[in-house]
Amino acid sequence: MEYRAPRGTRDILPPESEGWEIILSKLRVRAEEYGYKKVIFPTFEHTELFKRGIGEDTDIVQKEMYTFQDRKGRWLTLRPEGTASLARLFVEKGIDNFNGVSKFYYFGSMFRYERPQAGRFREFYQFGVEALGSDSPYLDVELISLSKDTVDSFNIKDYLIYINSIGCSECRTRYIFKLRDLLKQEITSYCEDCQRRSITNTLRVLDCKVDKHRTNKLPVLTDNLCHSCSQHYNEVKKGLQTLKINWQENHNLVRGFDYYNRTVFELVTPHLGENTSILGGGRYDLLISCLGGKETPGVGFALGFDRLYQVVYSNNPEFLNIPRKGVYISSPETNLWEKVFKMTFDLRSRGLKAECNYQNRSLKSQVKTADKEHFEYFLTIFEKDIVLKNLTTGEEKVYENEEEEKVLALLSSKGAKS
Ligand SMILES: [Zn+2]
Ligand SMILES: [Zn+2]
Repeated sequence: MEYRAPRGTRDILPPESEGWEIILSKLRVRAEEYGYKKVIFPTFEHTELFKRGIGEDTDIVQKEMYTFQDRKGRWLTLRPEGTASLARLFVEKGIDNFNGVSKFYYFGSMFRYERPQAGRFREFYQFGVEALGSDSPYLDVELISLSKDTVDSFNIKDYLIYINSIGCSECRTRYIFKLRDLLKQEITSYCEDCQRRSITNTLRVLDCKVDKHRTNKLPVLTDNLCHSCSQHYNEVKKGLQTLKINWQENHNLVRGFDYYNRTVFELVTPHLGENTSILGGGRYDLLISCLGGKETPGVGFALGFDRLYQVVYSNNPEFLNIPRKGVYISSPETNLWEKVFKMTFDLRSRGLKAECNYQNRSLKSQVKTADKEHFEYFLTIFEKDIVLKNLTTGEEKVYENEEEEKVLALLSSKGAKS
């Protein structure tokens, strides 16, 4: 039998995995600058959590979840997104009893049974950020600003930030009834998905790509907001202006989850074909209470890590050029191999990246390997002397055997610097 990774999954190898680490560390630094702290939660949860949190009628819950029964017959689901889990841990740990604003970030794989296509996987990775405990519009602005700063730190240009307000349960419900009434006459001319959604998840009709020319003529939600939702939305826009953040209003932006209310936003780039979303989020003021916690407003976003990687890479492939570091040690003389081996471990214990040869190979092929593996130096030990080659410049320097400690000290001082 030939073993392959299951459809929609993949292995991440160097140098891509190294690129991932570079990107991830920037994301962490940004989030921490804004005061967010890391949380780790389980890869699977009780199925009920996602049904209740994301919504029974959403595409995710209806047809995209990896759900299974364990040996005791409990229904479990591989997490399709992070916010529901985060809300669950928030309630379970009693953080809803704390009066301040709690800020968390997470990173990990999510699972959705979707048709795999370019840049879309069944196991995919998300970096998510959530702030709970305040309904201030400034917090919405903070999240949008953080998403902008995040993308800016990778020098990505031409992106757009879409914002919209989907109101509260009152003004949205009123709007949905109005929309259903209007759709009733013409729904048969819409696509099949829309015909189903017009009943189960009416707002989603607005983000249908097939029927865009029709939905553009429908009344927009932001003209139908109640007073306090409208005020909140205006404050968000004012805050964005204060921070000089450019945005575009997108009336068709509704986001697919039940837990969102008021502000929703998305960051799209043209780098992966026509305006692909790499980040999306919004406010969810009722999620915590819906999961049994004390009413706690929240706002957050999730960034599609796989897509961000593709955008960063297509924009600037050089970011994968990992700087040269460390030393590769070798000797053509078998009786010196033990010395080489000992030197390697000695340098490692001094904090330098060091490697030696574990196969019987020619010096030439070892230099090649060292070069490919981004070592900065190649050190050759001979009976009579030691040759240190700088792999960046090609420059070689010969040392006496007695100078060995000097060479090691020189190399390890480089290690300390890098
Ligand atoms: Zn409202
Ligand atoms: Zn449609």
